[in-house]
Amino acid sequence: MNNSAITFPIPANEPVKSYLSGSPERVALEAELKRQSGIVVDIPIIIGGKEIRTGNTGKVTCPHDHKHVLATYYKVSEKEVQLAIETAMKAWQEWSRTPWTTRAAVALKMAELLATKYRPIMNAACMLGQSKNIYQAEIDSACETIDFFRYNVHYASKIYSMQPKNGAGNINHTEYRPLEGFVLAVTPFNFTSIASNLCMSPVLMGNVAIWKPSTTALLSNYYLMQLYKEAGLPDGVINFLPGSGALIGKVCTESKYFAGIHFTGSTATFKSLWGQACSNLDRYISYPRLVGETGGKDFIFVHPSADPKAVATAAFCGAYEYQGQKCSAASRMYIPKSMWPTVLEDIRCMAGEIKMGDVCDAGNYVNAVIDEASFDKCKSYIDFAEAASDAKVVLGGKCDKSVGWFVEPTIIETSNPQFKSMVEEIFGPVLTVYPYDDDKVEETVALCNETSPYGLTGAVFGRDRVAIEHLMDCLTYAAGNFYINDKPTGAVVGMQPFGGARASGTNDKAGGEFNLIRWITPRVVKETLVSPTDYRYSYMK
Ligand code: NAD
Repeated sequence: MNNSAITFPIPANEPVKSYLSGSPERVALEAELKRQSGIVVDIPIIIGGKEIRTGNTGKVTCPHDHKHVLATYYKVSEKEVQLAIETAMKAWQEWSRTPWTTRAAVALKMAELLATKYRPIMNAACMLGQSKNIYQAEIDSACETIDFFRYNVHYASKIYSMQPKNGAGNINHTEYRPLEGFVLAVTPFNFTSIASNLCMSPVLMGNVAIWKPSTTALLSNYYLMQLYKEAGLPDGVINFLPGSGALIGKVCTESKYFAGIHFTGSTATFKSLWGQACSNLDRYISYPRLVGETGGKDFIFVHPSADPKAVATAAFCGAYEYQGQKCSAASRMYIPKSMWPTVLEDIRCMAGEIKMGDVCDAGNYVNAVIDEASFDKCKSYIDFAEAASDAKVVLGGKCDKSVGWFVEPTIIETSNPQFKSMVEEIFGPVLTVYPYDDDKVEETVALCNETSPYGLTGAVFGRDRVAIEHLMDCLTYAAGNFYINDKPTGAVVGMQPFGGARASGTNDKAGGEFNLIRWITPRVVKETLVSPTDYRYSYMK
């Protein structure tokens, strides 16, 4: 019997470790990198805690060394997807009725395990499998994942404590029921933390999940499944289905128990899943919750009053950290013509100082893009710019796939504000810059607002604070996460809940109560203490 009113105050963010040479965390990480580099992991399908191996397999390779096989995995067929749905719905019977404080205890144990024993395991897997350097892995697969676990428990406690008032002779309360069905979590390659959160935020609220992990993030995602089990998550609450997204999406959206989708990835994929949910609407028990964070064409807008050094640093870090594969990465910049030569020179200096290569060499700032498709896409935009009359490549541009999927940090400068790479998402280390006439701020900010269909992140730079206020107003709907004098990346759980609108998603703000609220369906209960026994109005008596 648990009748305590447990509170979960706002937690602290997980500190980012420094990984100085010889530090305990560096020693542990290097040992784990060596261990994982020397084995080929066998990644099964996991349904109801049982490992399943089909005849249909695939390989997980290192993006920075694509001949290096890290794992073999097994792909689901329709049969396993159906089994996962049945299994999830069995697990739902108990998990949906489990006290929320028990679910919270499981999530908090996940955080503790990841902060300690699993930290080097997850970071090494993320480095090798997703080609992140030490720092980028630490802030993702350790710190942000831990923050999601801890903060969501706090936000859930706020939601559960929201209760209606009592009336004369009656008492009222709200039960925050989980959805009546399963949630399909479809996760991207670029953040282990997002993969974890897309499963765990519905699960914390009492739901069960079918998890379709990204094939290119399978290694770290498989270790997450081990972490969940060790933390005491019952079998069947999260079911792990590697394989074709199209197949899994189709079978899940045809099930009457489909209660929602928690998605992060490209706009096109989310739209196709939304369309499938619409066409199957008559099959469902309830209207499904469709939550998706999708693509972006994130901008930096520079006012003539800006500090050029700050702009150069933000453009460099915002565009090239994790090879520009953050959904928030700066990918187009509007800058006054008079300031551009100085800023370009600064960026060139920074680019000249960094190295690109294997994640195991800590001297490398930039690593590889995720796979051949991404490499080809980046190269095609660079080739297009090289051949164009209204653009030129002014930094980088070299691509080499002999060992890994390496694309140099690149800048395309264009005189055409509608140039292809000013409009379309590339998702790689390619920044397109449109230098504008210094006296055309108004016209250019209007272009910035209207050029791309997305609305994820954006930054404005300037020392004139009144001018910044005006730019913010012009760009009200251009970004769901907005930065003043800072790069448009690096949102932290508890500080900048994340998400964008327009074609960038449903903007339900991962890492906050707005997201958690999508995974519950409240029941409001009124209890009358003494029931009336006379139907007449008092003036009729
Ligand atoms: P993606 O759309 O290719 O894949 C995302 C997931 O969907 C993967 O698990 C994939 O296997 C699956 N999938 C692919 N086709 C499918 C289909 N037809 N039906 C069902 N599932 C399918 O995206 P990605 O390459 O993994 O990630 C990059 C994209 O994610 C970029 O567009 C980026 O902007 C976006 N992203 C957005 C945010 C955000 O918060 N807005 C965060 C991270 C990434």
